[in-house]
Amino acid sequence: MRASRFHLATLKETPVDAEIVSHQLMLRAGMIRRHAAGIYSWLPLGLRVLRKVEQIVREEMNRAGALELLMPSFQPAELWQESGRWDHFGPELLRLKDRHQRDACIGPTHEEIITDIFRREVNSYRQLPLNFYQIQTKFRDEIRPRFGVMRSREFIMKDAYSFDLDKHAMQRSYEIMDQAYVRIFDRFGLDYRAVSADSGAIGGSTSQEFHVLAESGEDAIAFSDQGDFAANIETIEALPQDGERVAPGVAMQTVDTPGMHSIEDLASGLGVSARQCLKTLIAEAADGGLVALVLRGDHELNALKAGQLDGVASPLRLAQPEQIKKVVGSDIGSIGPIGLDIRIYVDRSAAQLGDFVCGANEKDKHHIHANWGRDCAEPEVADIRNVVDGDPSPDGRGRLRILRGIEVGHIFQLGQKYSESMQATVLDEQGKAVVPFMGCYGIGVTRVVAAAIEQNHDEQGIIWPEALAPFQLAICPINYHKSELVKQATDDFYDDCIARGLDVLLDDRPLRPGVIFSDMELIGVPRRVVFSERGLGAGQFEYKGRRDSSAQDLPLDELTSFIEKTLHLRQ
Ligand code: ATP
Ligand code: MG
Repeated sequence: MRASRFHLATLKETPVDAEIVSHQLMLRAGMIRRHAAGIYSWLPLGLRVLRKVEQIVREEMNRAGALELLMPSFQPAELWQESGRWDHFGPELLRLKDRHQRDACIGPTHEEIITDIFRREVNSYRQLPLNFYQIQTKFRDEIRPRFGVMRSREFIMKDAYSFDLDKHAMQRSYEIMDQAYVRIFDRFGLDYRAVSADSGAIGGSTSQEFHVLAESGEDAIAFSDQGDFAANIETIEALPQDGERVAPGVAMQTVDTPGMHSIEDLASGLGVSARQCLKTLIAEAADGGLVALVLRGDHELNALKAGQLDGVASPLRLAQPEQIKKVVGSDIGSIGPIGLDIRIYVDRSAAQLGDFVCGANEKDKHHIHANWGRDCAEPEVADIRNVVDGDPSPDGRGRLRILRGIEVGHIFQLGQKYSESMQATVLDEQGKAVVPFMGCYGIGVTRVVAAAIEQNHDEQGIIWPEALAPFQLAICPINYHKSELVKQATDDFYDDCIARGLDVLLDDRPLRPGVIFSDMELIGVPRRVVFSERGLGAGQFEYKGRRDSSAQDLPLDELTSFIEKTLHLRQ
């Protein structure tokens, strides 16, 4: 490709509304353009990368025996009514009516459609196992689309659906997908982890997420430093810290704490550690009232776990300050469990505390030297916090270490949820109708592109892993339009590369070398070759790998062999 004929649309300035690096660089490199919240076009440069991701996914899915098909975005409501999801899917489901006033939606996922295909097409156990997949556009009306294509409303997903005669066979299909995912993410060349996304079910996980590791990741994932345990922290059981509770000592006192509204204010104001203070959050109860959730000051609430507690509204909703004031009679900032007249759940680690500090349910007042069982009833204990670095691993082996990740894939054993509700059956060996077991397997294809950038960039721009790079090599001539010598050497090399089927970008734009170099670095081409009159005169070309700190001059007669070697075309 000649840059003069390619729509290179790089921007100098960092767009102000892009918060994370990948979003900034995708806009600056001219990969994507935004039309509305969470709605993007992929420009030619971006599409090249997207196609590389798709191709790797497609090759590995095919190799694993899955069959590609293509399903519609527009989905009739009837199918969603059959599965029961028409009423249960939240506002992420974009619902609409066609001109005949028929209800429909734009597919956020395709379990209903695939089950409909299956029940019409497949009727015998002989046709199983089956795994269908597609690489297709999804729409989810995300409440907060953000970070560019990382969390967009329209995005491309690879979704696959397996069908098996029984549970055991479903598990085998799941394992095959697990292995295919490992190959896919290995081939991307990204640093990733597979983590269990199941809430502590014994006897193997039924759901796993694949995360690309990056500081900016929205998810926290935890690993045991000794065993194999790895899971999304959303789902990990938090064991109590600190062993036995200390016996109560001094009598409880109430102290003035003016202006101390946060745990940090309180801890520094009273000269105690945050872990000695209780944090009391108020959430909506399932019956319309309120419940209190009490944690140690240095811990964080786990909304998923709290939302599953008896009597708590699910999904979890924290109460508004006005609601709290009305029911509790106090402002947030001085709420505590003592004398609080609503149901109270206390986290295991908070329940281990003795001699703690907590809000006195009175403006600007806190209790000190408070104790469970003495100053109030023994608490109702529950696991409601996120695990933290150093917590014991729930499998009893080692301690947890926490990293941040971007969820790029999710594999799931569905069981008979859709096949049963939508009455899909096949005849078994005895001629009896049985309900098949399904699995579903997603990869966020567009998100992978952003995640790759989050993990691979520097001050100058993107550094593509080899397998995802839009071009393998940038050819950068100096004075291409002025020097016949340079033009000749460049064109010869370019023609040679094209003849070999290499994906090269020749920057033949009449620009200063500095501009050319910085554009090639911004768009992340993994290596560049420079031809200049001076270099050619000395029988040399210049080479620089995108991660190299400086360029090197190499003999011109080794150009072909050198390039073959760096592109791994020859050992
Ligand atoms: P998340 O928790 O990030 O919303 P999810 O659990 O809703 O993801 P799945 O339904 O498992 O996602 O979808 C499969 C994959 O599709 C995810 O692993 C993710 O990579 C991708 N994906 C999901 N939602 C989005 C989105 N709004 N934008 C881009 N990619 C997405
Ligand atoms: Mg989601």
